[in-house]
Amino acid sequence: MLSNQIKEYLAGASWIRKMFEEGAKLKAKFGPERVCDFSLGNPDVPPPPAVNKALEEIIEEDAPSLHAYMPNAGFPFAREAMAIKVSKEQRYAVPMECVVMTCGAAGALNVIFKAILDLGDEVIFPSPFFVEYKFYIENHGGVPKTISTKPDFSLDLAQIEEAITPKTKAILINSPNNPTGQLYELDEIKGLADLLKKKSSEIGHPILLISDEPYRHIVFDGRETPPIFPYYDQSLVVSSFSKELSLPGERIGFLALHPEAQNRDELMGAFILANRILGFVNAPAMAQRLAAKCAEEVVDIAIYERRRDLFCEVLEEAGLEFVKPKGTFYVFPKTPIDDVEFCKLLQEELILAVPGRGFGGPGHIRLAFCIDEVYIERAREGFKRAVARARE
Ligand code: PLP
Repeated sequence: MLSNQIKEYLAGASWIRKMFEEGAKLKAKFGPERVCDFSLGNPDVPPPPAVNKALEEIIEEDAPSLHAYMPNAGFPFAREAMAIKVSKEQRYAVPMECVVMTCGAAGALNVIFKAILDLGDEVIFPSPFFVEYKFYIENHGGVPKTISTKPDFSLDLAQIEEAITPKTKAILINSPNNPTGQLYELDEIKGLADLLKKKSSEIGHPILLISDEPYRHIVFDGRETPPIFPYYDQSLVVSSFSKELSLPGERIGFLALHPEAQNRDELMGAFILANRILGFVNAPAMAQRLAAKCAEEVVDIAIYERRRDLFCEVLEEAGLEFVKPKGTFYVFPKTPIDDVEFCKLLQEELILAVPGRGFGGPGHIRLAFCIDEVYIERAREGFKRAVARARE
């Protein structure tokens, strides 16, 4: 009964799922409080108080049509709120006509790929990467093409240039980055924009730059995530409230197309149609209302920043090499031995991590700090012992 593609996917290793299963076993055996589970990027920091207040207001205000269908692009007031938000973030005026409300960033990416990909079209993205990208591209007949980053996980423009072919439809970037915690600086974005302009004219069609930004505001040390729109017209921003408002289960996000993109109206029409026919039909009504009311709110970033600082201290003390995260809630240290073997040593210390190979970064592990600081502290000695054993 199964399609060959799904059979292949099922047979392939999902490291996050494996670690989840291992973690469940360890928690059942030793008690959940003894297991330091850094495997899942499921935000534990509570949504800002404005979210509950907004929910109460929504119930009061809109009773008769609260749960009704709406235009496929989303409620006009929600699109308007996103347009205002994106205009500020991108330092570029974006009208609501360029916004579609989606089922999270994941929904937005699938909508975009459905709208632009023909069979065999290539989408390039830097490695390490968010594991689902490959599936989202292949869902729509595209070919995922990964390119390596520099040792500090910054963009390697020479690699991107080499990877571009006449089949290249889009470049997908994610900053701040899951799994590395790195942020692309303004000069990297400008350099990428210049390269894409040059290559687009060489290959005779525009290359779309898709910026996946669900962690835009989860940045540390007073940083800001640089904008894309002022530097490259053929671009799109994708975002969501899964991380910034800690609402991943509510499935709410949006896409915003550059207002000066070539064939803008045609593209927007295609995105809106794809949003409908992929089966989402609309982004959830309640969540759109919530997003519109809380568009400018963000969870307490100081909590993640404190955890980042503590984790860096623990990893350094254990003698692990890593690039200090500039944002997100992930750190991606190098492993002293094979990443899967090192995860096994960590498990013996009741520490759960995901092997970097699952993210296209073998020789690393991903540690998510969506868990109380107590667990990071608790893992301190375990990390030291695991490193010492790896070096025996
Ligand atoms: N993009 C990246 C880089 C992510 O890390 C995630 C979720 O972890 C997503 C997209 C999907 O997020 P959403 O819940 O908004 O669909």
